[in-house]
Amino acid sequence: MIIIHVDMDAFFAAVEIRDDPSLRGKPLIIGSLPNECGVVATCSYEARKYGVHSAMNIKDAYRLCPNGIYMHPHMDKYKAVSDALHVIWNSYATALESVAYDEAYLDVTERAKNFDGAREIAYEIKRRTREELGLSCSVGVAYSKSAAKTASEEKKPNGYFEILTPEAFVSLMRDRDVRALYTVGEKTAEKLHRSGIRTVRDIQERREEVVMLLGKQGQWLASLAFGIDDRPVTPYRPEDAKSIGREVTFQKDVDNYSLLKDILLLLSLSVDRRAKRVGLHGRGVSLKITYADMKSITRSQLVFSTDSPLEVYRTAARLLDNVEHRPARLIGVSIYNLSAEREPQISIDELIEEKTHRSENELSALLSSLGARYGLDFAGNLDKLFKADTLHKTIEYMRRHS
Ligand SMILES: [Mg+2]
Repeated sequence: MIIIHVDMDAFFAAVEIRDDPSLRGKPLIIGSLPNECGVVATCSYEARKYGVHSAMNIKDAYRLCPNGIYMHPHMDKYKAVSDALHVIWNSYATALESVAYDEAYLDVTERAKNFDGAREIAYEIKRRTREELGLSCSVGVAYSKSAAKTASEEKKPNGYFEILTPEAFVSLMRDRDVRALYTVGEKTAEKLHRSGIRTVRDIQERREEVVMLLGKQGQWLASLAFGIDDRPVTPYRPEDAKSIGREVTFQKDVDNYSLLKDILLLLSLSVDRRAKRVGLHGRGVSLKITYADMKSITRSQLVFSTDSPLEVYRTAARLLDNVEHRPARLIGVSIYNLSAEREPQISIDELIEEKTHRSENELSALLSSLGARYGLDFAGNLDKLFKADTLHKTIEYMRRHS
């Protein structure tokens, strides 16, 4: 396993400073205002010099740093920057586990091949984050998630560090306080300290006691003290998985395949929207069907690009034509082989524009004939259609009226 952990430096504060350079060099505290109840969300490194830190009560922060600049967070703005960061991260990871807006684990085993490759990727991520977004991050490269997290902390801010073996992890950590181990919070640390277990070495040497004291968490810490951590990077945002898909389960089995094809158009549009939202496009389309007897099949085809929802739909429809036509319980479409959207080259701009125009026309023609078949206005309601469970309700409506 080769894992990269990326952590943005003072993320909210850094975004605000980037957008208003007059804040640079000043203690900036983002969170509640001093006259409100609440806590510090993030603060600039200048504010940290006064002892301010995140999750601190805002009144305490104000006592330490009365001359600081206090500001409410602008979550929409940070979310947009976070989406852009995920596009960068996703272009290197086969799996990406997002921990917060500003922090993620990337499994780069496949892409990097070895630690030299991973180091190059790490520096490229730092460079792109600086050049494309005007922000700095700290990056750790390691053989495991906890070692990667430890590595990215090691040289913060704007840091790079690597921990390539469990032995390197152990020699770095052995004499440190137990708090240095990932997942050891204040409470756990106090428990261990009370029993005289103060350093990582103490955990190594007194592992039975640690297990008795902390149970399951103790077992985990005992392994971690030796650098052992096999947890995989687990994507949980759909856009961080290797594919982006949408599927629908019917309340009653469907054996009308022209209805299924119509549904594929809507699912393809939905998939296309999700992909565009996160700036990804695919090079493969896959169709999934679960039949009434719960047997599932998947059929896939590589394509040049899934830039257009029509391409997704046509490919999926072709795949549908070639499967066994039995009553279906579920149908789904996904795109895979994802990568970040390419910038169209200037020389072929016009061509693309013309092609886009043509496919938009074809798409609206398809949607209006679909609408006519079911007595629905799809073209005018696309934005609403893909929200929450509206798509599912619409498809159920189509099923009942087919
Ligand atoms: Mg951070």
